[in-house]
Amino acid sequence: MVKLNTNENPYPPSPRILELCRNMDWGQLRLYPDPAAKVLTDALAAYHGLLPEQVFAGVGSDDVLAMAFLTFFHSSAPILFPDITYSFYPVWADLFQIPYERPRLAEDFSIVPSDYFGVNGGIIFPNPNAPTGCAMGLEQIREIMDHNRDVVVIVDEAYVDFGAVSALPLLKEYDNLLIVRTYSKSRSMAGMRIGYALGNPRLIGYLNDVKYSFNSYTLNLPSIYLGAEVLKDETYFQETLRKIVETREWVQRELRALGFIFRDSSTNFIFARHRSCPALKLFHALRKKHIYVRHFDQDRIREYLRITVGTREEMETLIDFLKQFLDAD
Ligand code: PMP
Repeated sequence: MVKLNTNENPYPPSPRILELCRNMDWGQLRLYPDPAAKVLTDALAAYHGLLPEQVFAGVGSDDVLAMAFLTFFHSSAPILFPDITYSFYPVWADLFQIPYERPRLAEDFSIVPSDYFGVNGGIIFPNPNAPTGCAMGLEQIREIMDHNRDVVVIVDEAYVDFGAVSALPLLKEYDNLLIVRTYSKSRSMAGMRIGYALGNPRLIGYLNDVKYSFNSYTLNLPSIYLGAEVLKDETYFQETLRKIVETREWVQRELRALGFIFRDSSTNFIFARHRSCPALKLFHALRKKHIYVRHFDQDRIREYLRITVGTREEMETLIDFLKQFLDAD
């Protein structure tokens, strides 16, 4: 099986984890974990050069994002997020009965900053966007921030490590900016479920108020310790990123040669359509060979497939199959 459908990292996390697991005092598991997950939030604060009060940790970024929707989005004005974006945003908005509008991405799938200048109850977008893989520059994010001083703006940086510019430097300037990150992609730890938010201490305080009204003990004890530990292995982290980016650049060249059309990816996935072969036909043919990619049955993107960048070997299997299939087609 070649699993390229959920944007996981094909490489294991830093081997430091194994060492820590071996030396961990498992007797500690009888105790509740630290509800503030301080070992982890302190390590993240130091890693990003922020204060510990500027970090909030949760059970994957889905948990952090859901908590942020609940905490910050409750005005009668609609919140704004792109028409093509992470599929969970409208789900949370519906669940929490938050009105929303979805400005249309440009034809090349760019987010148009001026679409976010009107009256609204908050803004959220991923950078880079998913599933398009397109990134925005800092200046465009700044434009959105400058036009939205009175609402919370959330930048979901799930894929930022693969080649986009982080909004982190803007935290000093905008106290209404919340950046959300995850360990599930670049850090190879989707199975641990660790996500976090970075922002002004007041925003982080409000997130904690909501969390403590809901479930105090969110992160489990191994996640807290292992999440802090992997931050110490920057060399391994950078090496993993380098391998994925290198493979991505190779796959992009191969896919283009096979007639696929797409914008350069700033993430660990490629969002592409074929110039003549329908997406669903490709999707089913790949599935038959146990190569799994993602298809979205949604307006404007029905002809696209989202293909996660796996190991070089996995991507060679994909490309070899596509060469045969498209040749015969
Ligand atoms: N944001 C975006 C844009 C995503 O694609 C994902 C992954 N499905 C998430 C957030 C959530 O990731 P996790 O809960 O694993 O941190």
